[in-house]
Amino acid sequence: MRSSLIDSHGRAISYLRVSVTDRCDMRCVYCMAEDMEFLPRADVLDFAEMERLCASFIRRGVTRIRLTGGEPLVRRDIDTLVRSLGRWLRPKGSSTPGLDELTLTTNGSQLRQHAKALYEAGVRRVNVSLDTLDPERFATVTRRGRLHQTLDGVQAALDSGIAVRINTVAMAGVNDREFDQLIGWCGEIGADLCLIETMPMGDTGEDRRSQYLPLVDIRRDLATRWTLEPLTVRTGGPARYVRVAETGKKLGFITPLSHNFCESCNRVRLSCTGRLYTCLGQEDGADLRAVLRGGGSDDQIAATIDDALSHKPKGHDFMIGRRGGEVSGPVRHMSVTGG
Ligand code: SAM
Ligand code: SF4
Repeated sequence: MRSSLIDSHGRAISYLRVSVTDRCDMRCVYCMAEDMEFLPRADVLDFAEMERLCASFIRRGVTRIRLTGGEPLVRRDIDTLVRSLGRWLRPKGSSTPGLDELTLTTNGSQLRQHAKALYEAGVRRVNVSLDTLDPERFATVTRRGRLHQTLDGVQAALDSGIAVRINTVAMAGVNDREFDQLIGWCGEIGADLCLIETMPMGDTGEDRRSQYLPLVDIRRDLATRWTLEPLTVRTGGPARYVRVAETGKKLGFITPLSHNFCESCNRVRLSCTGRLYTCLGQEDGADLRAVLRGGGSDDQIAATIDDALSHKPKGHDFMIGRRGGEVSGPVRHMSVTGG
């Protein structure tokens, strides 16, 4: 049996994000182009292939899996995949290979239909993306989403016993006056909130520079009206959290551009085509689908993963010049790799 997953910079990999589809029922302005071309279905892994790859990672020490996309809940029969991955969930404190957490990131539009099945499969937390509480602005930002559906999905998740973190991409001139309202609303419904800087990934037909809002400035401004108590607990993830004393809920900041978080990175990503990305912001990785479909053994899969990890980049090189400067990032869309 192979040892656990350690990259060449000594970082242990315990978290896998899996994009289950590149398709989506929305076209958010920072994520997709209006006229996205999606992958042919034959290019996308089937559930048996996804499960086999996930099992390979779990046996090597991955303890948390997040399903994402595209929109994971538009993949047909997604509940089946969630149920089979849920069988890897292990009791607290157990040392046998298994998952401590299975979760997903969703735009919430289909969450009402799936919430109960997700809970029954063992999902206890989801991230729901929601950038604004204004119905018209929501329709503009998502290009085809309906706010009431996402709100309904959030409520269904909470009613089913699933904790919710709202993910909000901060956009200059779009939702930058809404953060107080979002903090208050999250407090009312009992959800955490995480603000995210726009990352330059793929062509979306929008100018990244005009959207970019550095969260250091936002945090400073919020601190004049809210009591933000720093939390030291780190999940190995990119978010830095505070507790909002007035609501009791957590507020996170994901700042890939204004503050780099790569030194403690514990994650890798599997695209819906079986490509392993060792960094969200770089092209490095390995084609695991080729190994799978070429009849590769479990050991060959493990060896390919090890080889890719030995090249995991030290960090990303995202960059957005503040005033008309350079914009740099990968050419692939976030929906391919899984955000
Ligand atoms: N469709 C699901 C959703 O929207 O939650 C899951 C996939 S989406 C790609 C995952 C997360 O990535 C979302 O929270 C979304 O807001 C975020 N995202 C997408 N493109 C982004 C970008 N260019 N910069 C920052 N965050 C982005
Ligand atoms: Fe779809 Fe999520 Fe991308 Fe929006 S952020 S277009 S909901 S994949």
